[in-house]
Amino acid sequence: MRKPFVAGNWKMNKTVDQACKLVEEMLPALQKIDTVETVICPPFTSLMPVSKLLAGSGIGLGAQDMHWEASGAFTGAISPSMVKECCNYVILGHSERRAYFGETDEIVNRKLKAALQNDLVPIVCVGERLEENEAGITNEVISRQLRGCLQDIPAGQAEKIVIAYEPVWAIGTGRAASPAGAQAVVLGMISPTLISLFNEKVAQAVRVLYGGSVTAGNASEFFSQDGIDGALVGGASLKTAEFLQIIQAAHR
Ligand code: PEP
Repeated sequence: MRKPFVAGNWKMNKTVDQACKLVEEMLPALQKIDTVETVICPPFTSLMPVSKLLAGSGIGLGAQDMHWEASGAFTGAISPSMVKECCNYVILGHSERRAYFGETDEIVNRKLKAALQNDLVPIVCVGERLEENEAGITNEVISRQLRGCLQDIPAGQAEKIVIAYEPVWAIGTGRAASPAGAQAVVLGMISPTLISLFNEKVAQAVRVLYGGSVTAGNASEFFSQDGIDGALVGGASLKTAEFLQIIQAAHR
């Protein structure tokens, strides 16, 4: 039985002070729902102070990205061991990283290997762009991204990975995919690709999230779809009441 999983991606929002205030506001209610694996992903600057607030709470902390190298001349980058100092999760291959920072599946694959080596739970994002969706090539895009991102990962390590299916056209637009459409991609392409890359056991174990304009209003419809184990939430994860309602919807 896969444990429901909800992660909040705060993107480039909140100063340290604002982030700590938001966590203090959310934490008492978040802690009450221990049937859902809940993770928050603030910007790098807030990770260390927020980790202190979350200590012992059961709420996970994730970075929004990281470099794959252990150390060295990579100005502006953060290494896996730096992330591991305060986090247990890391988002990899978010569409905003792909669109604005030129991340490719090959780069995501390097980061994924580094995350697994450093005992971080990777949340690997895949999703088609609007023109790809309109051209009817969603499944091909998802298959290509998964095969590129997951290349040479041993089956023994793959069970730990969380996959987020995030159609790019649904992210931050207020235009969520239909729950049935998201499920069709998850059951029709993501699960079969995991079986073909690894095996049935891995496909059964890997949690698959939907992401893209998830709100308190639509979350339960997504979570009631077989194969969708939770959500990667952007904008709504910055609003205490709404994020809580999404997590409550994931509790089953
Ligand atoms: C995201 O940042 O991964 C995301 C899904 O954003 P939003 O919920 O705002 O669409």
